[in-house]
Amino acid sequence: MGEPIRPSEVIPPMVLTYEQALHTVRERITVTPLQVASETVPLEEALGRVLAEQIRASRDYPPFDRSARDGYAVRSADVQGSHAVLECVGEVAAGAYFEGEIKPGKCATIMTGAPLPSGADAVVMIEATTKQNERVEIHQAVRADENVVPKASEARAGSLVLDCGTRLRADAIGVLAANGHTHVEVFRKPRVAILPTGNELVSASVEPEWFQIRDSNASSLAAQVIEAGGEPWQLGIARDSDEDLKSLISKGLQADLLLVSGGVSVGKYDLVEHVLEGLGGEFYFRGASIRPGRPVVFGRIGEKFFFGLPGNPVSTLVTFMLFVRPVLNTLAGGAFEEPVFLRARLASPRAGKKDLTVFVPAYTRMRDGEPFVEPAAWQGSGDIVNFTAADCLMVFQPGQTSVDEGAWVDVLPLPR
Ligand code: AMP
Ligand code: MG
Repeated sequence: MGEPIRPSEVIPPMVLTYEQALHTVRERITVTPLQVASETVPLEEALGRVLAEQIRASRDYPPFDRSARDGYAVRSADVQGSHAVLECVGEVAAGAYFEGEIKPGKCATIMTGAPLPSGADAVVMIEATTKQNERVEIHQAVRADENVVPKASEARAGSLVLDCGTRLRADAIGVLAANGHTHVEVFRKPRVAILPTGNELVSASVEPEWFQIRDSNASSLAAQVIEAGGEPWQLGIARDSDEDLKSLISKGLQADLLLVSGGVSVGKYDLVEHVLEGLGGEFYFRGASIRPGRPVVFGRIGEKFFFGLPGNPVSTLVTFMLFVRPVLNTLAGGAFEEPVFLRARLASPRAGKKDLTVFVPAYTRMRDGEPFVEPAAWQGSGDIVNFTAADCLMVFQPGQTSVDEGAWVDVLPLPR
């Protein structure tokens, strides 16, 4: 008879591939009714928030047939050939309108943004004309509707222009202003508890002993949470002890999401998973075949989700970006933020790993009109200094063990 099977050996390893892990996060994450509470904010404070109402066009856009050029409003039937002569009978500037009608053989000077006079159905740009007194010579044929943006072609009054769940960027803020919204209903920001763990850590304000490390993850995570539209809540540093972890993790479960950094590897003092388990934690994965960030864990306790992110500062940044950022958009009332990989040419040959998806901090630049990507000069998962030069993660799929210079590789742009 062999050794008795210990409980830990019955538990499946729960290490997923990158795709499986991302899929698991996408499938598992849900939003509770409490989290979708909303508030009204002035437009100046709405940038980066998620819209909690539907916005409909307050009028047609454009509200009238609008000239897209400085030139002459004409009847296109008058300018069928490559040469025509018309009589200019007036002027229409933006903010004004033309009284009367453009009759056959006539035209009016018109500015960009001005309403097209009745009778006219096109605008000839000024560059294609010569004018002497009221005599306007036109040197090219003109189609109906040329250089005219037709009334309601951008949006019809009452049509949906911004949907609930839209993250408000500069363009959406412009749409809100155009429709007369000085205040807007947005979802409350998800509150994200941040718990750095480690006996070696001191807070950033403290002078460390030679064997201690300043906690950088709490600050970088808070910044990533803010970038992703959340509200960070610092729980302070947890020591590598069951008691300390238990009390701070319990506290953190009052937030919408709990992020623990460090303590999820296999070392003697990596107690985070054990404590999460003790608090009733259900794990959806306990590792992903990725580098950096292999020990990342994801699960829930009651209604609250948690991530255990590996403590090496680059691992923490990368695993946040890969798994937490997409979730934050969901918790904020938007959609799951699916990572979109772009492609660039590899600037110098490089080897990936057989069984891992490798994410290398790298930077992109144009060379001879093509995008190239070059790894940052980083020294591994602890090196945030060299990470600062990166603008993307260069991705090697499992098995891409040698990739030639000039080959196309996936890159995941960093939010910058
Ligand atoms: P761990 O994931 O706890 O095994 O930690 C891995 C490495 O990351 C160790 O070298 C830690 O000292 C370092 N580390 C862990 N947490 C932090 C933190 N909050 N700030 C900076 N470095 C950290
Ligand atoms: Mg540790």
